[in-house]
Amino acid sequence: MKDLNDALSQREADATEAFLQSLPELKDGESFRFACHPQVPCFNACCSDLTLMLTPYDALRLRRALKISSSDFLTHFAVRLTIPDSGFPMPRLKMREERHKRCPFVSAEGCKVYADRPGACRTYPLGRASRLDEAGHVVEQFFVVREPHCRGFEEDADWDASSWLADQELAVYNAANDRYMRLMALARGKGARLAAKQEQMVWLALYQPDAFQDFIAKMDLFRLVEIDEARKALVLADEEAALSFGLDWLELAFFGIEEGLRRRRPQGPQGA
Ligand code: SF4
Ligand code: SF4
Repeated sequence: MKDLNDALSQREADATEAFLQSLPELKDGESFRFACHPQVPCFNACCSDLTLMLTPYDALRLRRALKISSSDFLTHFAVRLTIPDSGFPMPRLKMREERHKRCPFVSAEGCKVYADRPGACRTYPLGRASRLDEAGHVVEQFFVVREPHCRGFEEDADWDASSWLADQELAVYNAANDRYMRLMALARGKGARLAAKQEQMVWLALYQPDAFQDFIAKMDLFRLVEIDEARKALVLADEEAALSFGLDWLELAFFGIEEGLRRRRPQGPQGA
């Protein structure tokens, strides 16, 4: 089953990239007309039968909104997939098991987790493709996903990419997602799949920040890195800080990168 899931995940990632590149690009200075609200005739039409990959930050926001443990969230709301060439997690939201395969969060009134809906739901009807340039900076492109069933394009509101991103409060999502993309790019660059224990660590550090906080305390991970008391307290109290620590931790532990965290060096003898 694991191999089948892996293959599906890779095919979906490839298909998404190919799909985006086939769409008209929304270049700097270009705009599109769009609005979505309960009065559009297609209201909720887009919340069924879709492949919705969940990034670590998507999972964190949804789980926190649902007030359940990350373990319960992954069990009940996610299909656990990994990217085959790297072994990195890329779960997708589990749709309802019914004919229309509706999203578990859609209701007659709209999205029940609207304030914490995933980044892909916020970005729609744009698609965002991002990559790292040679200097490691994020380069983004936007595409307009103009689907026939979506009547939002008939509404009277004009946006460009940056005003849409701001309206949908996407900055915090894209910042976290780009960090995950960078981690996956580093892994791809190494050309080897994560070992099983490393895979488990990625799931824990990035998709289970509540359990990762317990792990940090139990294993006293802080003794291995240079970290001040204020950040220690924040990491143990706040899941977004724990996720950020997890990303830094994986960059350090897997790739030796000391940007967000520095390894604690042994103290030399006094006066040496
Ligand atoms: S999370 Fe909300 S916006 Fe996204 S597909 Fe589900 S119901 Fe629709
Ligand atoms: S199909 Fe388009 S306009 Fe209709 S509910 Fe979905 S996003 Fe909104």
